[in-house]
Amino acid sequence: MKLFFIPLDFSYGRPSDPCSPLGFVYGPYENDEAVEEAIARIWPNDKKRQFLVFEGQIVKVKPSTKEKPEYEKREPGDMANYIKDNGGYKCKDCGGVIIDVDVKYPIHIHHTPGAGFGKCQYKTVFYCPNCEKRPNSYGDPIYV
Ligand SMILES: [Zn+2]
Repeated sequence: MKLFFIPLDFSYGRPSDPCSPLGFVYGPYENDEAVEEAIARIWPNDKKRQFLVFEGQIVKVKPSTKEKPEYEKREPGDMANYIKDNGGYKCKDCGGVIIDVDVKYPIHIHHTPGAGFGKCQYKTVFYCPNCEKRPNSYGDPIYV
């Protein structure tokens, strides 16, 4: 377990229900001394300030057993590979829920490569996280 802390925006012990908007979580820290050192360094002499220190565990998303190795994944976005399901889509092959990603395409002027208006076009690309490569969030430039 590692230690984390959140600066509290209230003084503990007030009569109302104390509430701190969840903002920045600091950490992880190895022990109490490291937490105290960080707090003293970031808020020197701020003796009235209070902190919520807690233990936490950092976890990652457990990989799906249906997920194919990266080299076996096909290109994303072919609607023929999906079936409609409850207002969304499911993968025909694995039954996984289809995810959509907004791909950003910068708009460039045709005759001057690299020059643009600073504008972009967005397109939604669908993909199965088990069977398909994740679409790059930045697409190739569109020339106008
Ligand atoms: Zn799939």
